[in-house]
Amino acid sequence: MSLFDLSGKTAVVTGASGGLGQAMAIGLAEAGAQVVAVSSSESVQTVEAIRALGCKAELIAADLSKEEILEDVVKQAAGFYGGIDILVNNAGIIRRNPAADHSRQDWHDVIDLNLNSAFFLCQLAGRHMIERGSGKIINIASMLTYQGGINVPGYTASKHAIAGITKALANEWASKGVQINAIAPGYMTTNNTAPILKDEKRTQSITERIPAGRWGSPDDLKGPVVFLASSASDYMNGHVLCVDGGWMAR
Ligand code: NAD
Repeated sequence: MSLFDLSGKTAVVTGASGGLGQAMAIGLAEAGAQVVAVSSSESVQTVEAIRALGCKAELIAADLSKEEILEDVVKQAAGFYGGIDILVNNAGIIRRNPAADHSRQDWHDVIDLNLNSAFFLCQLAGRHMIERGSGKIINIASMLTYQGGINVPGYTASKHAIAGITKALANEWASKGVQINAIAPGYMTTNNTAPILKDEKRTQSITERIPAGRWGSPDDLKGPVVFLASSASDYMNGHVLCVDGGWMAR
């Protein structure tokens, strides 16, 4: 199990107040990491859950769509435990509106957080990791990294681009000891998918298409994120790992 041991490692998880980010933050702590949970809200639930496990955790409340604060966020995150070993770029939003009616505001809001902030956080943490000669970055992609989706053009564009930057940065940073990969979750029950889950017919048609026969739960990402954050995945670079109950195999 030592391949998966994260003892002494510091993991920064964005969008950690709930949903997938919360589960991944707890999973990383369970594997031994100390966690810096970054979220737009002041919610201390994740940090408290991690501390209740006897692990260390700190909270940074920050609106990551504001480019100008990102450098300070990374500095503050690195300051807690003397550096950053793992960055999970998970914070993300979705705006649902038909493409013909998709407002510029919706487009920019989604791209600013899901893509621009993810790239700049990769860059800021990446510089720090290159200097240290090691680090792990895990970006959160989507099934809409591969497919077009319906009524979510900005989200689809952002998640296709997440695969692009993951590969682009892997090409430059693999030789510097920094592994950057992505996880593409399938349909998982969180706030992000709550509007779909209210539509019984759509939910059923999605469930029927999932070979595993069920939607994913946030806890389904614990194993994959620990794997990509640990030395078990040291020879993985620029990979997008689908955790989707088989959706992409269909
Ligand atoms: P969620 O809405 O439950 O969680 C989103 C998180 O992002 C929250 O912690 C929220 O506080 C944070 N956040 C939102 N705006 C922010 C901002 N401006 N600054 C900082 N933090 C902000 O949704 P989720 O499903 O847990 O989504 C997490 C990630 O997983 C997203 O990138 C999403 O696109 C991706 N994803 C989700 C699914 C799914 O089925 N739920 C599938 C594929 C990918």
